[in-house]
Amino acid sequence: MKTARCAIFNEPKQPFELSEMPLPYCGPGDVLVEISLATICASDLHTADGRRLEPCPSVLGHEGVGRVIVAGERRDQTLVGKRVTWTIADSCGECVPCSDWDLPQKCSHLFKYGHAEITNGCGLNGCYATHILLRPGTTIIPVPDHLPDEMVAPANCALATMVGATEFLPKPCRVAVIQGAGMLGLYGCALLRAKGVERVIVVDTDPARLELVKQFGGIPALQTAGTVLAPGRADAVFEVAGTSTVVPEGIRLLRAGGYYAFVGMVHPTTPLELSGQIVLRHCLTLRGFHNYAPRHLESAVKFLSEHGANYPWEKLVSPAFPLSEINAAFAEARTKKWARVSVRP
Ligand SMILES: [Zn+2]
Ligand SMILES: [Zn+2]
Repeated sequence: MKTARCAIFNEPKQPFELSEMPLPYCGPGDVLVEISLATICASDLHTADGRRLEPCPSVLGHEGVGRVIVAGERRDQTLVGKRVTWTIADSCGECVPCSDWDLPQKCSHLFKYGHAEITNGCGLNGCYATHILLRPGTTIIPVPDHLPDEMVAPANCALATMVGATEFLPKPCRVAVIQGAGMLGLYGCALLRAKGVERVIVVDTDPARLELVKQFGGIPALQTAGTVLAPGRADAVFEVAGTSTVVPEGIRLLRAGGYYAFVGMVHPTTPLELSGQIVLRHCLTLRGFHNYAPRHLESAVKFLSEHGANYPWEKLVSPAFPLSEINAAFAEARTKKWARVSVRP
């Protein structure tokens, strides 16, 4: 009988344990995918190192690409054999957030891959495994053959999130500032330039992280955007740095009617120092983004298909580690040498 191999996360700060389990039954609406490449997201590192608490034991990993091997009843059978990516979360389609608020990413019954206990369903809920069982409310997007795995794997997290965050921009939007030059920042830069934003300034405190900014169409700025942009000149600012200390500068940079997107501050220690009067007098819009809707992943794959060849993706993703060396892969990810370290099951 064919089995699946997976890396089990038992508890923070402990090595992953390799395990095997039988291939699961594919029920109505389910889709079984054989994973070809997974990437290690910063949030996986936070979980593995105990900076945030997630259920365990579990199979981590939510960024991946693979080939459909079984499509359950009620699923499009032409998916079988296709290379695909999928939404990071499964949503019910019927609750109030799904049906009334256009926020399937905030579904009342949300299930997030790479974040569920091994006892939830068949256990193959994450990407650090040879297989993953996708659930009936997960949108599956076929991937064109010309896009390499390394380019596609992080699309269902970082890229789709930035597609969502850049979906609405103030009009006009000629100048944008991105606070943070990691994967989200570089994707944001490429997306904004493709939308016609003339200047995208990317700020980071680490000169090494700024090295790729020009190749993604942006203007690098060390520590502060103040050296290249006067206050009140940005149409939009994107926080992808994960720290609220950047917010006062972001607010100062915005013009009247400007737009501020919060994307990176996904942990609780992010108190804001903010004058309500400035938000009010400058007619600012502040908006938060967490997860994304299926249409954003669809646009992400379309974006890669149309613009992928223009950017040096190979510089973002490490050569692949085999699944059996998942602990070495995490050690490599902790060095921060790569925007993403990849694992090939
Ligand atoms: Zn991620
Ligand atoms: Zn729902």
